[in-house]
Amino acid sequence: MVPSDPPLLEARRLSKQFSGWGRGSEQAATVRAVDDVDLRLDAGEALAIVGESGSGKTTLGRLLIRLLEPTSGELRFEGQDLLALRGARLRRRRRDFQMVFQDPFGSLNPRLTVEQTVAEPLRIHRLIPRRDRPQRVRELLDMVGLPATAAGRYPHEFSGGQRQRIGIARALATQPKLLVADEPVSSLDVSVQAQIINLLAGLRVALDLTVVFIGHDLAVVEQLADRVAVMYLGRVVEQGPAARIFATPQHPYTVCLLSAVPAAIPRNRRSRIVLAGEPPDPSQPPSGCRFHPRCPIARPRCAVEEPALVERPGGVAAACHFPGELSARDARDAQDGIVAGGSANFQSDST
Ligand code: SF4
Repeated sequence: MVPSDPPLLEARRLSKQFSGWGRGSEQAATVRAVDDVDLRLDAGEALAIVGESGSGKTTLGRLLIRLLEPTSGELRFEGQDLLALRGARLRRRRRDFQMVFQDPFGSLNPRLTVEQTVAEPLRIHRLIPRRDRPQRVRELLDMVGLPATAAGRYPHEFSGGQRQRIGIARALATQPKLLVADEPVSSLDVSVQAQIINLLAGLRVALDLTVVFIGHDLAVVEQLADRVAVMYLGRVVEQGPAARIFATPQHPYTVCLLSAVPAAIPRNRRSRIVLAGEPPDPSQPPSGCRFHPRCPIARPRCAVEEPALVERPGGVAAACHFPGELSARDARDAQDGIVAGGSANFQSDST
């Protein structure tokens, strides 16, 4: 893909802090949910943001389309300073980016018919005359594989997958350039997940959409993404072309995440690394590399010196002092306790 100039979306040093209570503490604490993140998204690209629960991926997705205001940083859409927009100019810009939410049950108003739901953005943004809305709604329903007869019914009359289709139709109503899909299939049955992923992949091509796909299931991400950004405790720890990251992950956290993905080809089967413990309290991130308490190959340097996100040949950037040292094979060896310098602080089983 040829990079667009300017990129469709560009974030620089984007941060979001929340005030709250530290884990197990009675002291007020500041949580850096997203911490100094740089991202570039070219037109037509599909970027997946992945990580465990609490990694900051959903917060980042919301920051990218100003559903949340950042604490600091820069955000540009087609070169325009998105954070400087207010009032009518911001409302006009909002047509260009829409979100598909995780929960197809909670994200639809049960009192509105499907027609009212899908037409809502058309009404809010005054995109087409009122008399033309029913026809446009039917076109949108057709795009997502729902019959025209769905228009007069209510959300509770539909299955989870069908409700997610309704949510996608609503998101497409403004003809957005960018779609942010926040775990759009995680609450659906596995058989339905594939249908929704295929629908998003088809719409992306047919409508020339740019997609940010937020998820924790790398098997799903692998089918959809051109590029991947891996988050841990509010930071991007690895990003680059999806094919390279899936083939030769550089950051030990990515190796661990990928080890949980079942390989379709038996000879590619990876040893599974079950990460020890929970992610640390985000209000008190570890010193040095934030991943060091759980990293299978952590060394003394890792606890004191924070690694920068450095791009390597092949276009993959990793924030690690020893990128590429932990491979799936090393992980297997580490299970036997033979990785040099490794603390082997993980359990393992096979997939
Ligand atoms: Fe592991 Fe050290 Fe790399 Fe962090 S910097 S991921 S602790 S090897």
